[in-house]
Amino acid sequence: MAKWVYLFTEGDATMRNLLGGKGANLAEMTNIGLPVPQGFTITTEACTQYYEDGREINDEIQGQINEYIEKMEEITGKKFGDKENPLLVSVRSGARASMPGMMDTILNLGLNETVVETIAAKSGNPRWAWDCYRRFIQMYSDVVMEVGKKYFEELIDEMKAKKGVSQDVDLTAEDLKELASQFKAEYKEKIGEDFPDDPKKQLMGAIKAVFRSWDNPRANVYRRDNDIPYSWGTAVNVQSMAFGNMGDDCGTGVAFTRDPATGEKKLMGEFLTNAQGEDVVAGVRTPMPIAQMEEKFPEAFEQFKQVCQTLEDHYRDMQDMEFTVENKKLYMLQTRNGKRTAQAALKIACDLVDEGMRTEEEAVAMIDPRNLDTLLHPQFDAAALKAATPMGKALGASPGAACGKIVFTAEDAKAWAERGEKVVLVRLETSPEDIEGMKSAQGILTVRGGMTSHAAVVARGMGTCCVSGCGDIVMDEANKKFTLAGKEFHEGDSISLDGSTGNIYDGIIPTVDATIAGEFGRIMAWADKYRTMGVRTNADTPSDAKKARELGAEGIGLCRTEHMFFEGNRIDAFREMICSDTVEEREAALDKILPYQQGDFEQLFEAMEGNPVTIRFLDPPLHEFVPQTEEDIKKLADAQGKSVETIKAIIESLKEFNPMMGHRGCRLTVTYPEIAVMQTKAVIRAALAVQAKHADWTIVPEIMIPLVGEEKELKYVKKIVVKTADEEIKAAGSDMKYEVGTMIEIPRAALLADEIAKEAEFFCFGTNDLTQMTFGFSRDDAGKFLDAYYDAKIFENDPFAKLDQNGVGKLMDMAVKLGKGQRPELHCGICGEHGGDPSSVEFCHRIGLDYVSCSPFRVPIARLAAAQAAISMKH
Ligand code: ADP
Ligand code: MG
Ligand code: MG
Repeated sequence: MAKWVYLFTEGDATMRNLLGGKGANLAEMTNIGLPVPQGFTITTEACTQYYEDGREINDEIQGQINEYIEKMEEITGKKFGDKENPLLVSVRSGARASMPGMMDTILNLGLNETVVETIAAKSGNPRWAWDCYRRFIQMYSDVVMEVGKKYFEELIDEMKAKKGVSQDVDLTAEDLKELASQFKAEYKEKIGEDFPDDPKKQLMGAIKAVFRSWDNPRANVYRRDNDIPYSWGTAVNVQSMAFGNMGDDCGTGVAFTRDPATGEKKLMGEFLTNAQGEDVVAGVRTPMPIAQMEEKFPEAFEQFKQVCQTLEDHYRDMQDMEFTVENKKLYMLQTRNGKRTAQAALKIACDLVDEGMRTEEEAVAMIDPRNLDTLLHPQFDAAALKAATPMGKALGASPGAACGKIVFTAEDAKAWAERGEKVVLVRLETSPEDIEGMKSAQGILTVRGGMTSHAAVVARGMGTCCVSGCGDIVMDEANKKFTLAGKEFHEGDSISLDGSTGNIYDGIIPTVDATIAGEFGRIMAWADKYRTMGVRTNADTPSDAKKARELGAEGIGLCRTEHMFFEGNRIDAFREMICSDTVEEREAALDKILPYQQGDFEQLFEAMEGNPVTIRFLDPPLHEFVPQTEEDIKKLADAQGKSVETIKAIIESLKEFNPMMGHRGCRLTVTYPEIAVMQTKAVIRAALAVQAKHADWTIVPEIMIPLVGEEKELKYVKKIVVKTADEEIKAAGSDMKYEVGTMIEIPRAALLADEIAKEAEFFCFGTNDLTQMTFGFSRDDAGKFLDAYYDAKIFENDPFAKLDQNGVGKLMDMAVKLGKGQRPELHCGICGEHGGDPSSVEFCHRIGLDYVSCSPFRVPIARLAAAQAAISMKH
């Protein structure tokens, strides 16, 4: 019989896959002797089984849960529903990877009218007893029965108004008792039956709710964004309660062993007296800084500081902890490696190396490459920032520079961003429902909440700028406006946020590009030391190439030449070329383009300083270049001495049913060899010119033929390229080398890679097209149905963003093997969007690619991901 349930004393930190992160760490903390309220963990496998059994908990699992309730009763000396000494528990979700705020916790389970009277009498603290009960009804109704928090919050607000108090803690036992009965009435009205009294029934309802929450829309979105597979499932932790709400010598808090925003080594956190659970993070009351805990509870604080030290030494990483003080006694409720900003991650990793706690390789492995993104984005221009006067200041909860138009709801943030607006989301406080909107915003500003509020935690996780807890704002969410510093702001007004200082500015403050320095530079240097795969960039313009070089690119893996045709009046010449009737006419038009193209290539070779540059020949269907407006058509007709009708007829003749699979790529060269001749001349002449200027560089231009699917096709095109190139080189009296290779982006090319490799000197996987052609759907239309595919659990990710390793990856793996088998010196790279996606980069390392190529801002991400792949393969 499988074991579905583990006591905290039966597990440890290595059992994360089975017990979830929270469960494994509760067990580990128990093992190292920290004060943890005891309990048990129902495994992630039980969750998977629950879904297999059609969302039911089968008898075997049920039986083990009952058995473990008894064990727990023995350990704690308390009993479920008991009149003398009742057991109260929390039911907590906990997946392998932490998913903050994604799934809900239920506290004080085991209460009913009888039990609440018992604990009220026994403790002599009826206020506490009724506070627990009303909280339990509220959480259970919300989480298990999905009644909706808002009704309960309205009832609390009504009660506070009636009593003329502003805070929950000012409500009396009688008020809370009254609230509890109102809550139960609300429950009965919404659900149609009485609130459950039997603790075991309550527990089973709660466990099922945790399992069910694994599949809620918020969790699904979070998983997709964070590469967490659906198949993992969540564990459930059932833990006896520690009470932070018994009075003023109780409290609850959260803390980090280092600053999660900056990485600075100092205890950071927040604390609330006489409070429970989410009170600290929900922004119900504004919590006090952890340092003040020292005054309130000197002994518990001293002990807590030691626990922090123990945990950091034990996990060798910054810890994020949750704890409760019950009658001055400390209980640890959670620890995990804390989420942190990219900046903090770099500092902490470097500090841990300097403190002798971690090796360089471990430090490199600790950084989530996806987080680097935020550091590569613009920062405020220092001079402009200095000149600006903040109109308000709150907590710098997640660093970064954000400017944009104010919106007041998550839905608006999403909608506005979709139409290309930069927005800043301003809210009283955020909740998990707001995730999508938060993702769409440049920055988030909240009126309530501290450093550990939902907004702060989630924003840090996403790398989005966040300023939280700006109590000076007078908010009117209903009418979409607020007042700050005497000025009224409306939807659409501009605002800037500095997530490092917490400053808020009226209007837009200009930003400047980021640089790699300090700890960022140190980590990147280590990454370069340990990685074996090259990192190039996709760059079409000299400025992109320069940027990429600054960010560490070791060459250009893809230059899309067609992008150069749109600049200035080149497009006129290109259109003339397209609308030519004869080869002579076409060549005349191409002759006009040649010098431009050569000039562009020279700049690229210059920018790359002798590193390899791969230039792809014309790829898109010609139809993409023809004039659209009457005016442009007339202009072209006049230039060519043709009638408007003739031009229109040519344009019409270029239309294709399926241009993606039409007359494009190397097919253009087969029909119009003179295009390839011109492009070859431009590449070779540019390379010769730059080589002549820099004797210390060895320039070997790489000419890449797109969309090849057959060896003879490549052979035909290559012959044209080679003839032209050799003539140019000879005429220049040079012995410059060059290479001709191909994109592998048609499945047939991957299947016949050994044949293709007879002609190709390198392969570059164009995984955008390869994905499109392997799946048989267009990347431009996939958006129409991908959401339905996610909902139906057919896809977990967008295969255009994250490489489909099973299918497309298999083709790549095969092509590398076949290609290198035919031609051992063949070099292989990838230049699709996937070249900048960490998990795809890891795959590329595994199948033995020589380099990945990605957009300039992804270069550092790829460098780090490549290093992590090399390090993890080594160990
Ligand atoms: P999350 O994963 O969202 O942080 P948790 O399971 O950690 O959810 O629960 C949230 C909070 O509930 C904890 O930080 C803690 O304050 C409180 N809590 C959970 N279990 C207990 C317990 N056994 N005793 C006291 N408080 C608890
Ligand atoms: Mg927690
Ligand atoms: Mg392509």
